[in-house]
Amino acid sequence: MRKPIIAFAILLAAPSPAASFTITHFGTPAEAQPAIERAAEIWGSILHSDVPIKVAVSWFPLGASALGVTFPNGRKDFPGAPVAATWYASCLANSIAGTELNPGEDDINVYLNSSTNWYLGLDGNTPAGQYDLVTIALHELGHGLGFVGLAKKTGNEGSFGQVLLSDFSPLITTFPWPEQEGLPGIFDRYLTTTAQGQLHFLANPSTALGTAFTSNQVFFNGDYAVAVNAGQQPRIYAPAVFALGSSCVHLNESTYPVGTPNELMTPFGSPGNANHWPGPIAVAVMRDIGWTIAPDVGTDEIRPPEAWRAFVDVEGHLRFQGLATPSAVYILDISGRLVSAERTDHMISIAGWSTGIYLAQLPGSGKSMRFVVP
Ligand SMILES: [Zn+2]
Repeated sequence: MRKPIIAFAILLAAPSPAASFTITHFGTPAEAQPAIERAAEIWGSILHSDVPIKVAVSWFPLGASALGVTFPNGRKDFPGAPVAATWYASCLANSIAGTELNPGEDDINVYLNSSTNWYLGLDGNTPAGQYDLVTIALHELGHGLGFVGLAKKTGNEGSFGQVLLSDFSPLITTFPWPEQEGLPGIFDRYLTTTAQGQLHFLANPSTALGTAFTSNQVFFNGDYAVAVNAGQQPRIYAPAVFALGSSCVHLNESTYPVGTPNELMTPFGSPGNANHWPGPIAVAVMRDIGWTIAPDVGTDEIRPPEAWRAFVDVEGHLRFQGLATPSAVYILDISGRLVSAERTDHMISIAGWSTGIYLAQLPGSGKSMRFVVP
């Protein structure tokens, strides 16, 4: 007797996030909240954690130049900590420990500038002169998840682990500010210069550290980050004048300019631009600092080609043309709600979907394709 051949088609009615976020808003207008939730969903599809990530978002006037400021809560020397005497973003520590180490405390505080001319849409079609909130929230959450360090320069002296909350006055945090004890963060342990090598081996604090921080020659030497950057250490923003919160905690602006795949984690946002994917280096940095990356997210994501389209064929399959390589494809309903996230290069099944208009979106492309489910 012949055995039947059974083909399984698995359809995700909703994305199954690898990490989930709980967001508390302080003054965020209701119409701005979906963009922030979208940014959290994007990171949630990339990183794995069994512990929900608790974020407090404050809508606050930050002055003329800043778009957002983020404070991660921190933990060190927790059960399973990969590197001792080193600060980890608390949500990363929770993910590694597999249990909540900070019950009752938020993991991340994000301030978003209430004075900014924001684009609140989810489709990445950011008008000239406006800042795409999904993009900036994605950037800020990236800091909260651990793309952040504890470098500081006072006079000529550089230090790790001496950042004070009062440095950011009048901003405050919902969680107790960790006493950093002069210890570096896990991100800091990967900072290097050609002349001085690993910066965490230098005296802390020291003028040597201060010189390195403003050398314009700081690089990140994590294995995964180097691997996705063609064997080169990605360059970190380290301008000649130290800027607390910008220097040594971003990719270098001019190396990864607007329009390139790694632009998200550079220090300056651009009006009229959208980027809804962190890019290969940022994802690899997350992996280097200890995050488990969701299994369907490669660390070799590339910006997809612009010439692609989505359509429903006569057999009721949603087909994609022009995708050269498998890519994550987000399907949104007409109100912008994420209904599916799959990785494909040609087709996904839409059997059982409600009739209506949908949008297909490639992370990072900033372009949406409309299609109709008949
Ligand atoms: Zn930033």
